Amino acid sequence: MRGLMMDKPLLISSLIDYAEEYHGTTEIVSRTVEGPIHTYTYAEAAKRARQLANALIALGVGPGDRIGTVAWNGYRHFEIYYATSGMGAICHTINPRLFPPQISYIINHAEDSYLFVDLTFVPLLEGIAEQLTGVKGIVVMTDRDHMPESKLPNLLCYETLVRSHSDQYEWPRLDEWTASSLCYTSGTTGNPKGVLYSHRSTVLHSYAVALPDALDLSSRDAVMPVVPMFHVNAWGLPYACPMTGAKLVFPGAKMDGASLHELMELGSVTVSAGVPTIWAGLIRYMQENGKTFSTLKRTIVGGSAAPRAMIETFQDEFGVELLHAWGMTETSPIGSVSRLKPGMENRSEDERMAVRAKQGRPLFGIRMKIADDEGKPLPHDGVAFGHLKVTGPWVCARYFKETTPSSHDDEGWFSTGDVATIDADGFMQITDRSKDVIKSGGEWISSIDLENTAVAHPDVVEAAAIGIAHPKWDERPLLVVIARPGSGLTRESLLAFFEGKIAKWWLPDDIVFVEELPHTATGKLLKTRLREQFKDYRLP
Ligand code: ADP
Repeated sequence: MRGLMMDKPLLISSLIDYAEEYHGTTEIVSRTVEGPIHTYTYAEAAKRARQLANALIALGVGPGDRIGTVAWNGYRHFEIYYATSGMGAICHTINPRLFPPQISYIINHAEDSYLFVDLTFVPLLEGIAEQLTGVKGIVVMTDRDHMPESKLPNLLCYETLVRSHSDQYEWPRLDEWTASSLCYTSGTTGNPKGVLYSHRSTVLHSYAVALPDALDLSSRDAVMPVVPMFHVNAWGLPYACPMTGAKLVFPGAKMDGASLHELMELGSVTVSAGVPTIWAGLIRYMQENGKTFSTLKRTIVGGSAAPRAMIETFQDEFGVELLHAWGMTETSPIGSVSRLKPGMENRSEDERMAVRAKQGRPLFGIRMKIADDEGKPLPHDGVAFGHLKVTGPWVCARYFKETTPSSHDDEGWFSTGDVATIDADGFMQITDRSKDVIKSGGEWISSIDLENTAVAHPDVVEAAAIGIAHPKWDERPLLVVIARPGSGLTRESLLAFFEGKIAKWWLPDDIVFVEELPHTATGKLLKTRLREQFKDYRLP
């Protein structure tokens, strides 16, 4: 027997409609590429999203068409999110930090018909324009006065486009399974792959991340997504904030410590979200300049492992809760958040920190398991580690244009490429990415553990651990370190620092000091490059 409840699809347009009606005066604050801070309300954003939808229709954009964006976090990007998905087109966010050939590959693979770009990225587009096969026009996200001189064909001005259309538009009643947005993985191996989200998956993800034991968002919050809107939809915050009526504060192109702190104070930010390197930069700025936060309560950290030392510094020095979350492009992205279970408050500070440094427990909707190389399930005892697999309504079923799922097991579980433990309380902890784990004598050494231990040393700025081929053990760990300038940190003193913190046989065989470490387009350590760099390295 079917239930007798209304058939109302879960649509992205209902999020902006709701914010307009019930949180119409709530602000969206943006640092613009042009310079000034821009402030307006959800009601104005909704109106301009409808104007933009009319403009897109006038350009001939139809249901299912892909619209690419190459843009920072800002109010115009927010309007594009809603105008494109709302009208039934697909918002394809492009990561400008990828290599130009990858960017043109992605645009051509997605068959983007129009591109919306921030002023910053006009030169990038000029460099690849000739390779783009199906792009009909490029809209520069600025006003008439700031339009650049450019030889790009079919260049349009965003403000002219929006202002020349009516704000009267009724969002279509789409099937909730309709594709809404597209995001490519950064492709550290092989070509980037497209993850195609739906209205349904996006709205369900928003409900889940807003819950109290997840990110705990409400209309009393002011949320600053530092994580880019071009990388997994800024972890879904541009959707979850209108759903909860939280104020949004967009940092634009400026993500250095001073600019972030300034905007956090200006926008009375209570919650923020970003990768560990962003927070490392902010902490350094705060410490060097004796700054404090007046409104910030918590920040969400993910994308790579948050070192425990960082969680402690945020708490002890600044009174800010650092919430560790895990996810990936294929999981929309949030899969788990680490919050203490009831009763855990009474544990020692040390034990609580150990729990908070884990990647956390799944949100409702996500299921997790770990399996060995043969696919056999491993126990959830916090010790056994294996391949992490997930399912859920906002987990990718197959990649864009793929006919058969390539990364799923026979039962439909998605293989994340991460290696993890799950403890008896359900807390998952990433020990490595499968391709980064160091295999020594048939056992696995977690490169993440080695890196996190190293960065807890006050003179270590950043560290990367990789496996170096070894005649007896297959591989042994090498630690590559950026030391604090002028600290005089030595190999011996850093090795001594590891003692008692990790198993003896995990101790790096050698330490090399460097000026710089290679990173991916999303700010993660680029281990493939590092392994290449050190492929002929001889351990002592
Ligand atoms: P890519 O960097 O390949 O584009 P994503 O940005 O989707 O992919 O990153 C997903 C990966 O990032 C995860 O599979 C995991 O390895 C890593 N990751 C994400 N969050 C965390 C975390 N909190 N701790 C450790 N690793 C994380």
